[in-house]
Amino acid sequence: MTTLTPILTKNWDQPDSFTRAGYEREGGYKALRKALGMAPDDIVQQVKDSGLRGRGGAGFPTGMKWGFLPPSSPNPRYLVVNADESEPGTCKDIPLMMANPHVLIEGVIISSYAIKSNQAFIYVRGEVLHVIRRLHQAVAEAYEAGYLGRNILGSGFDLDVVVHSGAGAYICGEETALLDSLEGFRGQPRLKPPFPAVAGLYGGPTVINNVESIASVPSIVGNGPEWFASMGTEKSQGFGIFSLSGHVTRPGQYEAPLGITLRELLDMAGGIRAGHRLKFWTPGGSSTPIFTDEHLDVPLDFESVGAAGSMLGTRALQIFDETTCVVRAVLRWSEFYAHESCGKCTPCREGTYWYKQMLKRLEAGKGEEEDLETLLDLSDNILGRSFCALGDGATSPVVSSIKLFRDEYLQHFEQGGCPFDPAESTLWA
Ligand code: NAD
Ligand code: SF4
Repeated sequence: MTTLTPILTKNWDQPDSFTRAGYEREGGYKALRKALGMAPDDIVQQVKDSGLRGRGGAGFPTGMKWGFLPPSSPNPRYLVVNADESEPGTCKDIPLMMANPHVLIEGVIISSYAIKSNQAFIYVRGEVLHVIRRLHQAVAEAYEAGYLGRNILGSGFDLDVVVHSGAGAYICGEETALLDSLEGFRGQPRLKPPFPAVAGLYGGPTVINNVESIASVPSIVGNGPEWFASMGTEKSQGFGIFSLSGHVTRPGQYEAPLGITLRELLDMAGGIRAGHRLKFWTPGGSSTPIFTDEHLDVPLDFESVGAAGSMLGTRALQIFDETTCVVRAVLRWSEFYAHESCGKCTPCREGTYWYKQMLKRLEAGKGEEEDLETLLDLSDNILGRSFCALGDGATSPVVSSIKLFRDEYLQHFEQGGCPFDPAESTLWA
């Protein structure tokens, strides 16, 4: 039985967890002192050895990404934290920054020192004003303590951190759209390569990492890479925050080693809401193919979830019981993608709009079986043909729901309407 590993979440129940004093009382900023006594390249090696993989969803090895920075460049190097958490169901970075902003700041300082950058940015989703305020306050506290600014703790290392607010566009979580937005342009994905590690912010070599990835760095430096690598699975090492939402008795953040199963997490979360049973769920937000109760024992690591036909993504476990209409859920997600498509490429811009129109009709029981083939054909024309991951992600709930719940789609046509009572499902309130 896997147990929880509260590391990033360990002090969330303390009333002053978000203050510097509260963080230091729990041993905060000790790893920074240790890191500043190390050679930067040794920290990069430690992060490589730990096996840490990007916690923003893609799972790219963090240390390897840092290693892609060219040894010399005429432009300054930057560290950019992607705090634009917006994937439907994903709610780990926002509570982390609210409850423990200093673990992120400590991670930013150590990571910037490791990659030899003197300027870092935290790009935060625009809607979460409370988080932006909290980060500003924490950054100010870090400056006051000499953790930021000139000659940090007498080490000779200088670092400035800017907290930048986005304006509420999902696409600005895509790393190159984020860079455009940070530079003051309309946020739209750039062609890759070059990857940001080579030519990123203002053309300079730039490391972009998710909040949770950077927040994991102090514990790796503090406890050693072997400690981190001893958790999780062979290829998906360490711990992560799993966000349980929807029809679950105790929704929330559960920090556990990668490879834990939904069955184990549900045991800790009190199970599906009383009197109901699991129908379908997302392993990593709405951009990942849905799973059913057949997947309760799939280890939640990058490899196992992939082998079972989905993606680990952001570990946003949205749980739906038998009162939920899958067609309606997919329509909701498709409306989101149609709204958030940046419009740069035709397959996504037109395809997500078509999804929305067709699913609206189908959910109202006005379609016919042939429409399902049209939806699948449309998906084939979006997947792999879109400019960025948003288009691909939009196909996941559509294709997987038709595969797993074709009968439920058919029921809508047969009955001339949705067979579910929206009043029974708390999610539509
Ligand atoms: P990706 O696999 O293209 O890239 C992952 C990271 O690795 C990027 O930082 C990229 O620059 C780097 N990288 C990859 N190949 C590289 C190379 N050869 N050289 C240098 N760097 C390289 O994935 P992506 O498009 O950045 O992200 C997609 C993921 O984002 C999805 O899996 C999804 O789970 C996640 N996502 C998260 C949210 C959220 O709110 N957290 C929202 C939407 C999507
Ligand atoms: Fe924009 Fe969608 Fe194309 Fe991405 S896939 S560039 S979001 S239109």
